[in-house]
Order: sequence, then structure tokens, then C-alpha cells
Amino acid sequence: MVMKHPKLFIAGKWCETERSMPVVNPYDNSLIAEVPIAGARETGRAIDSARTGAEIMRAMPAHSRARILARTAELIEKHIDDFTGLIIAEAGKPRKYARIEVTRAIETVRLSSEEAKRIAGETVPMDAAPGSEKRRGFYIRVPVGVIAAITPFNFPLNLVVHKVAPAIAAGNAVILKPASKTPLTALYLAEILLDAGLPPEALNVLIGPGNTVGTALVRSRDVGMVTFTGSAGVGELLGRDCGIKKLTLELGSNSGAIVDETANLDKALERCLIGAFAYSGQVCNHTQRLIVQKDIASDFINRFLLATSRLVLGDPQQAETDIGPLIDATAQKKAQEFVDDARAGGAELLCGGRAEKTIFLPTVLSQVRPEMAVVCEETFAPIVSVETFGDFSEAIDRFNRGARSGRYRYGISAGVFTRDINRAWRAIEELDVANVYINDSATFRVDLQPYGGVKESGIGREGPRFAIEEMTEIRMVSFNLD
Ligand code: NAP
Repeated sequence: MVMKHPKLFIAGKWCETERSMPVVNPYDNSLIAEVPIAGARETGRAIDSARTGAEIMRAMPAHSRARILARTAELIEKHIDDFTGLIIAEAGKPRKYARIEVTRAIETVRLSSEEAKRIAGETVPMDAAPGSEKRRGFYIRVPVGVIAAITPFNFPLNLVVHKVAPAIAAGNAVILKPASKTPLTALYLAEILLDAGLPPEALNVLIGPGNTVGTALVRSRDVGMVTFTGSAGVGELLGRDCGIKKLTLELGSNSGAIVDETANLDKALERCLIGAFAYSGQVCNHTQRLIVQKDIASDFINRFLLATSRLVLGDPQQAETDIGPLIDATAQKKAQEFVDDARAGGAELLCGGRAEKTIFLPTVLSQVRPEMAVVCEETFAPIVSVETFGDFSEAIDRFNRGARSGRYRYGISAGVFTRDINRAWRAIEELDVANVYINDSATFRVDLQPYGGVKESGIGREGPRFAIEEMTEIRMVSFNLD
């Protein structure tokens, strides 16, 4: 264990409090660490420190911000095994996926370092407005100031750096509140950022319940922006709590894939399998729905079931493990309810459908209907439902809408497997999502792309370049030459 005595990081100091909470390994429920819980006093001190941090960062030149981030990427790479170990231990993420997360995080920080040098405005053609012929104008981008970053358990490193690194690149100070289940990776990252030369006031890390520490940050008038990744329910609360400040929300979804009869089925199968079951479906763009053309459905589903039966279940520490635990008993219970509710409504269970100790078995259901929770809500578990379609219009219709509401509430990603260029374009234009991936599963993402959701899946975009846009304000400048 790299971190023996994890502490809060406030105003440049590591500190403890009187209250603490356990961090538990989700696979065997063993205790990994006790972490201090921040109270109102610590939260207030962190906000004060971040205000100072914002002044320091605002004055720091772009090349210095870029250098700190480049050095951070190097240090994460140097400590790749430590980070991988922490993610396995506290998130229960199988080693192969934990390692990918760290590799992606290095890339996210590097991209942010590069983007730090490209933050620019543009000229505004003032003479296009009658009466302003003698004016010259341009706008610049200035940092927001203090940014509160609230993050989920499922990517304890990469989704933290997707907020912290662009915030630094843009010249802001950050107060980070990681998920209570996975705070250790974030604390280790804080150590690395300090080693890389980040001024201590530019990063404060608070640990504690979202509904106390998180709420206090969100409501603070000294915080200029809240960047949140988590569930739609909490996102909605934040929207109400935050008042008039910048807000980005990266929330959940019921993403899925369409597979038509022209597709390369081998590739579709391989990608849908990973999309369905990577990290036991605890991914916001989890491929939880498979919508398959009816002529190929039986063959495709049989092959999908065979491939599912070959997945290796077990200890996330082991290199060969594909499926590890769900994050906790509440998640297990919810997963079971999704399956039981679907079966009670007439769905057919093709495999899985129950837990073995902390592992929920990879589950496939058919004969589902759009109004079933397993289809229209986010399962966040290794549960996949299969629907079939006749012509491509039906596929799009099935993807987009729930029978009762007229429209599914979520919209992150759609994977579309087809060799038909016209269908691909129809999908791009008609699917009600923020990301359409032709010949990839819904669960695809590269870290430089604009990433987010539509409808109740979120507001705003991440990906360093796009996060920097969210984390800066446009300041218009006009010179009157008259
Ligand atoms: P969560 O329960 O919503 O928690 C996310 C964060 O919000 C945690 O740090 C949590 O603190 C905090 N929080 C909880 N209640 C709060 C409140 N009232 N005010 C302020 N903060 C509060 O989500 P999760 O279970 O950790 O993560 C899974 C969810 O995240 C899924 O829905 C998934 O789809 C979504 N997600 C979305 C994306 C995306 O990019 N769209 C990526 C990854 C995950 P505590 O931990 O202390 O409760």
C-alpha cells in the first residue's frame, strides 16, 4: 500500500480530523485505510486557501502551467504500478482495466499540458456593426478562479484528472472532493501534483460525504464553477443547490449498440462484449442495450452468450480476471432488483442473473420492453438486455425512445455496427445522444474528444480542450479609436 496514513490536503498541509471513515476493498471487504472526514471548518479553510491559489494560478504563465502538468504525467507514469494497485484495491477494478485507466490518465494530463499553451481568444469584426467602424475588438479567455471538482468512484484517477488537469491548464485553483469509496487514488495524485511543482494552494483535497462536504462546496459563493461527474439524481440536486455559477454535469445513461445484418459480426461481438462487461458495467457509457437485426439475432446472441461464458470471474488483482466485484452491497441489491423486475415483467434470463459473493454474474436478458427499468434506467452493473429489429428505422426508434415517456431520459453514447454508409449517416443524424460511434461499441472513448451527455445525461463537455473552454470565461475587449 503506497499510502499508509492518508490525510486531507488543505492550505498546503496534510491534516487529520477527529472523525474518520473506512475505505474498503470491494472484493473481500477488507479494510484498506481509515480516512479523515472534513467538517465545515476544514471546508471553509479549503475554500479560503483556494481563493489564494486562484490568485497564484492566474498570475502563472502558460508555459509554467504546461510544465507542471507535463511533469505530473511523467510522475504518474513512473508510479504506474502504485496507481494501478490503488485502483484495484479501492475500486475493485480488474487489473487489466485498472492499468488502462492509469495509461489513459497519463494521456489526459499530457493533453492538458499541451492545451495549456493554446488558450486563446479571437478578434471580433467590430466594424460589421454600423456605428462601430472605429472600434477594434477581441476577446480573451480568463480563468474562472476557484473550481470545485466532485468525482465518482468508477474512474478514481482518470475522471479526477479530467477535471484537475484542465483546471490547472486554464489557470484555476481546484478543490477536489473525490468519491468517499475511492479517495486514496486522488490523495496520491495530489502528492504527485505537489512533487511536480504545483503551488500547494492551487489544490485542496477534502474527503467526506457528498451531502455535507459536496453540498457546502456547491453552495459556496467563493466557488466560481462546479464540475461534477456522478449519478443523475445527485446531478439534479447540484443543479438546484449551486445558484448562479458555472456548472458542468457528466451523468449516467442507458447507452447501447445497434448491430445490423451488414456488420462485421466478429468485430461487433468483440467490442460489444467489452462494452457490456468491462468493470462489470460500472461505466457511464456501458453498453447495456443490444439492438440486433432479427435475421442475425439468434446467431449473434448465441455467440455473445458463448463469449460471456468464457469471461474469467474473480479476484481483480489477477491479471486474467475480466469480471470483479460490484462496488458495494447496495449496488448488488440494485442489480438484483433490475433482473427480478425484468423477469417479473416477462423478460427471459439467458445467463447470470444473480451474485456469487461480491461478484454479480454477467447477465443477459431478452424479451425486454422499453418501459422496463433494465432498459430505460441506468443499470451500472454487468446486465445487458437484447432487443431485435426489422428495418433500420425501427432500430433508431428503439434506441431513442421509451414507450411510456416518448423519449428515454438519457443520452450519452450509441455504437452502430453497419457497413451501410447511408444507415451510418442516418444514425449520426437521428440518434438522440452526444456520441455516435460507427463500428465501435457505446463504451468507446478517447480522452481528447469532446465527451458528455444530452438530456438528463449532462450539461457541458469534458476532454481537455473542451473542459478548458468550460473552465474559462470569455472577456470581451473593445478599443474605441474615435
Ligand atoms: P454519485 O453517488 O452520484 O456520487 C458522485 C460524487 O458526488 C461523489 O463524490 C459523492 O460523494 C458526491 N455527492 C453525493 N451526494 C452529493 C450531494 N448532495 N452534493 C454534492 N455531492 C454529492 O455517483 P457514483 O456512484 O460515485 O458514480 C456512479 C455514477 O457516475 C453513475 O451514474 C455513472 O453513470 C456516473 N458517471 C458518469 C460519467 C460521465 O462522464 N458521464 C463518468 C463516470 C461516472 P460520496 O461519495 O461521499 O457520496
